[in-house]
Parts: sequence; C-alpha cells; structure tokens
Amino acid sequence: MTRLIITVAVTGSVPTKQQSPHLPITPDEIADTARRCRDAGASIIHVHARDQNGKPTLDPDVFAAIAGAIRAQCPDLIIQISTGGRAGADPQMRAAAVRRLKPEMASLTTGSVNFPDRVYENSNETIEFLARVQKEAGTKPEMEIFDTGMIETAIALADKGLADRPLHFDFVLGLPGGTQSARPKQLLHLVESIPRDSTWTVAGIGRHQLPMGVLGILLGGHVRVGLEDNLYYAKGVLASNEMLVERIVHIATELGREIASPNEARAILGLSHPISNF
Ligand code: ZN
Repeated sequence: MTRLIITVAVTGSVPTKQQSPHLPITPDEIADTARRCRDAGASIIHVHARDQNGKPTLDPDVFAAIAGAIRAQCPDLIIQISTGGRAGADPQMRAAAVRRLKPEMASLTTGSVNFPDRVYENSNETIEFLARVQKEAGTKPEMEIFDTGMIETAIALADKGLADRPLHFDFVLGLPGGTQSARPKQLLHLVESIPRDSTWTVAGIGRHQLPMGVLGILLGGHVRVGLEDNLYYAKGVLASNEMLVERIVHIATELGREIASPNEARAILGLSHPISNF
C-alpha cells in the first residue's frame, strides 16, 4: 500500500485558546507546533491565520509571517493554505494569500454547507475563481468535500481546465449540516465516487477523527488530524496537535502502513511546484 500522508490542521478558524491552551495562534507558536508534528510524522500542514486578538484573518501578511516561520523550522514540510470562508466571505480576500505566497497546496471547498451557526457559502462563481487563482499560482488544490455532490463539482472544474488531474480530495465527515454521522459506509461511498486516479484524505470532526482516521489507513487513503477538527485526545482529555499525529503514526505502524516523508508525499500527490522560501 502507498505510504500514509498525514496532514495536520493545527489551528483552524473556530477553536480558541480558552478552549485549549495547546492551540497555536501566533506565527511562532504555529511554527513550533509544525516542527513537533513534522518530527512526529506529519508531511503537510494545513494553515489558517489569526490576528493579534486571536480572531480569524485573511490578511496575506499574516499568512506570509506564518509560512516564513514554518519554513525556517521545517524546510521540507508541505504548506497548505486554507481558502475557507470563515475568516471572511470576500473571494478576493480568500484568494489573497495564495496569490501572494504561491504555496504548494491550498484548500478548495466545492460547495456550500449549512454550518450550525451560519451558511458556508461557496457559489459556483467563487469556486471557479478560487480554482483559477490556484491554477495560476501553480498550487495544487485539496478539494474539501462535505457531501457527495461536491465531488462532481470538483470533477467539473477539471473538465473545464480549472484544476489539473489527478485530483486530490479531503473528505470532511462528522460535521452537522454535512455528512454528520460519519458512518463507514458514508466514507466508502465518497471513496467510490472519485475518479480512479485520484488521491484522498479523510478529516473526521470531533470524536469522529480517530475512527475515520483508522478507516482511512485501512482503505489506503490518507489522514488529516489536528486541533482544527478535534480538541480532544479522549473524552475530557485535551490533545495537542503532535499527540494526535503521534497516535495516527502509532496505529498505522501497528497496521503495517508506513509513513510518508514530505518528499514522498510530494511524489504521491504529484506536486511539482518548487518549495517556496517565502
Ligand atoms: Zn481549515
């Protein structure tokens, strides 16, 4: 089986320091976390930015500071920039960090979702715009899939020449308004619905992170963990990002699945973009 790519989503837009003291917020905190997760076995870091008050921001200067700090501590880690809309809905702002940094990877959500607190709106116009910006930057999109129909929208982007094949997907399960119950058969259906040459990873939300990760290992996919999606190691026990990476490495190793280094992950994902020094 292909080596396992572990993505760590260290911060996100929703968790707060009050909820977990382990949450990295500043560029230096994120870079320190990145190094510990890289040492533990992560090959991709999924990056969100916060302002000085800890609030989500799309400011490309903050993303540049984070990316520079990560690069200084982890020369080979794959940096994946979020283009998610929780920090602001304006498509131009959501694209700003990708335009500026030209990262190896960025997220791209191919549909709208009814989150518990708001609608996460991604019109076709916004999706195509963000895809075009990523293509122009030489950035590989990770298609963030909350429901089956979003796969078809991602494939349509490739058909229109707005994304290069083979596509890479991230299945997000366990989120109210999306594929909430995160049943194994739901993940199987998603996996069976993507083009054969695609790669995929799975991100379970909250208590679904561990079972979905284990299933991802067994099915030959890849795994995303981290505090963006789940603050707990077990019920009532707070996790750090590196604890969540270490656990997946341990389980994968026990199951006979070897862990990909960042350069092995680049080969698996077909990343050809030179590593930026920001
Ligand atoms: Zn994210």
